[in-house]
Amino acid sequence: MERLQAFKYELMPTGEQQRDMRRFAGSCRFVFNKALALQKERYEQGEKKLGYAGLCKLLTEWRNSTETAWLANAPVHPLQQTLKDLERAYSNFFAKRADFPRFKKKSQSDSFRYPDPKQIKLDQANNRIFLPKLGWLRYRNSRDVLGAVKNVTVSQSCGKWYVSIQTEREVAQPIPQGGAVGIDMGLARFATMSDGSFLAPLNSFKRHEMALRKAQRAMSRKVKFSRNWKKAKARVQKLHSRIGNARRDYLHKATTTISQNHAMVCIEDLQVRNMSKSAAGTTKKPGKNVQAKSGLNKSILDQGWFEFRRQLDYKLAWNGGYLIAVPPQNTSRTCPCCGHVSAENRQTQARFACVECGVEENADLVGAINVLRAGHARLACEVSGEAMPPAAGTHRSDSVAAQCRA
Ligand SMILES: [Zn+2]
Repeated sequence: MERLQAFKYELMPTGEQQRDMRRFAGSCRFVFNKALALQKERYEQGEKKLGYAGLCKLLTEWRNSTETAWLANAPVHPLQQTLKDLERAYSNFFAKRADFPRFKKKSQSDSFRYPDPKQIKLDQANNRIFLPKLGWLRYRNSRDVLGAVKNVTVSQSCGKWYVSIQTEREVAQPIPQGGAVGIDMGLARFATMSDGSFLAPLNSFKRHEMALRKAQRAMSRKVKFSRNWKKAKARVQKLHSRIGNARRDYLHKATTTISQNHAMVCIEDLQVRNMSKSAAGTTKKPGKNVQAKSGLNKSILDQGWFEFRRQLDYKLAWNGGYLIAVPPQNTSRTCPCCGHVSAENRQTQARFACVECGVEENADLVGAINVLRAGHARLACEVSGEAMPPAAGTHRSDSVAAQCRA
């Protein structure tokens, strides 16, 4: 089984290397924005969009022209990669996976990617990596890089530079450990397992919220783009990155434990993106319960449910298990004992009491049990229907769902 994995380290660049990296990131941003502007212009004039090859040809022209000759100082492959990124942004947009590509702003996405492993030298014994036009860069070697290097991305965040090394390696087909579990995602408890255990929420955002608000207020009082404004902005960004780090750490630990101890994990197929998008509504059609929903949505984003699911998916695949997403209908209202479905079963947010048979239980646990059941039902469907899918990827194909209902 082939495994792709990224290893990220903090770089320890010299002053010159830092200046060069800033310049290269700037050149990439310039190329991206110039190409995007060009595509927009062509569209307005009714011309066809240029393909990747066409853009690369233009890039060569830009590098050779006297006006933008400084582009020739940046390594050419990362500049081409940025055109590839633009291509992908367009196809994501056409496939309705993303919004229309936007112009890049300075310090918003300071990164560039080296796609050719032949030009990269990794010297782990001496904690250094060689990259074209930058030379040998030292990095904080916190763990071994496993596998063959495929590509390398250099990025900047809060004044620090990082290198992310994407690798590929062959690993033995893993044997899944443990049984099946259903998970109910909530606010009071981040995740409740059907076996009764649960993960307490990480309210890193809440904990940092006060400090963040204060920093944001301080920033808003400063004259925009002044020295003090920049300092205040750096403080806000630092807080954001700290919140992000705490959340990532929490999610990684949680998903690693769950995926190592279970062969099958069932979760609700929540459309997190839609939930967080629709709260405010539009000016024509304002949303209902905006206050409550935006609070809830903020908490959802804070909890990182989407990231949780993404990590569970690939980590389970790594461990030979798999993730099953089930439709969330009635999982919180069905009695696990007699199967009675009623909204009255859920008397409060935390308590479940069946009006039919009188069973009482924690509402999140009931949800988790129902999710597990729905997962089993779906799995039985898939086995009796077509061949078992390989141990990778979330199962949520509509055809399978239709078979289940039939
Ligand atoms: Zn009941």
